Amino acid sequence: MIPLSVPHLKGNEIKYVTEALQNGWVSTAGGYVTKFEKDMMAYLNIEGAVACQSGTAALHLALRLSRVTEQDEVIVPTLTFIAAVNPVRYLGAQPIFMDCDETLNIDCDKVEAFLKDHCKVTQKGLVNKLTKRFIKAVVVVHVFGNMADVERLYDLTQKYGIKLIEDATEALGTHYTEGRYTGRYAGTIGDFGAYSFNGNKIITTGGGGMLVAREPRLLDEGKYLSAQAKDDQLYYIHNQIGYNYRMTNLQAALGVAQLEVLENFIVAKIKNYHFYEGQIKKSSGFKLLRYNPKARNNHWFYALYIQKETLTRDVVLEKLKEKQVETRPIWQLIHTQKMYVKNQAYCIEKAPQYVKHILNIPCSVNLTIEEIAYITGVLEQL
Ligand SMILES: *Cc1c(COP(=O)(O)O)cnc(C)c1O
Repeated sequence: MIPLSVPHLKGNEIKYVTEALQNGWVSTAGGYVTKFEKDMMAYLNIEGAVACQSGTAALHLALRLSRVTEQDEVIVPTLTFIAAVNPVRYLGAQPIFMDCDETLNIDCDKVEAFLKDHCKVTQKGLVNKLTKRFIKAVVVVHVFGNMADVERLYDLTQKYGIKLIEDATEALGTHYTEGRYTGRYAGTIGDFGAYSFNGNKIITTGGGGMLVAREPRLLDEGKYLSAQAKDDQLYYIHNQIGYNYRMTNLQAALGVAQLEVLENFIVAKIKNYHFYEGQIKKSSGFKLLRYNPKARNNHWFYALYIQKETLTRDVVLEKLKEKQVETRPIWQLIHTQKMYVKNQAYCIEKAPQYVKHILNIPCSVNLTIEEIAYITGVLEQL
């Protein structure tokens, strides 16, 4: 079987994890956690980062630091992994669902129209005219590592006095190559950014995440909340409800080793993407979705768009499975999931079409040219 995506652990992972074990620093204290945070800051060219247990935890902290409460609402995409949305509910707030555009990222035109036509700026904040609740933030996901239009979204959120949270869990390494934010990385432009090091992400710590912020001083509180909000280390005095969200030294040891080779991974992902693209003939009824041309994208996951009318997504999935190729449909839209059907969903038209026509195809770093040729050969036969 050619797997969809497997981690690549051929660098210093064993060496660093062994060292952490031998030193006895296996939990949340120990040098690798701070080293991993520092290495991430150096890579992203930013001033602060808080290592967490998961990307979901980082997103939860970002929303909490954006002062999202049970009176509030948060604008989110419907086409994404559910972990981008659930933390809104952890805080008792409600999501408002947005459509995607042809890049699969949140539709900025619709976000703008919604803010303009359906919300009111008041002394106390931005109010949703329908629900009368405050809107505190927009969560933008860089889907499959493809840079979303954060240039535009940041201006919009600033204009309406709300926060922009970048879910960059799939987009570590993606950065602008043009425009106002040239050189800036996905996750570092909005008010807060979250990364993930889950097993399927571009680099992994087994499980883990990282929180970053446009204003790094805001991260002190994030770090404090992630470590049970302890105000006195000796007498255990707590003045807020905190979380047990700190990354462990063992996870961070893996992270340090993985980050050393991230750029090699991206080179391999880009090369494989272009090889796929060259192999998939226009006449075959398939195409690969494009990435944002204004960015060096990390090409984490590849989206195969099925144009052939005689083929459904699930038939293609089954046929590829018979030929030992693992693929996966994109996520069930979140506004249609049981917990969210009663939430406001604004003009969702494109997302259902994309879900119907897209499969993710194998994209591991160690995927070979021969395997890609085999996969595209199978597609040609369908
Ligand atoms: C992976 C992912 C997350 C969550 O990250 P974890 O580290 O698995 O908690 C959140 N949002 C999106 C879009 C993701 O792909």
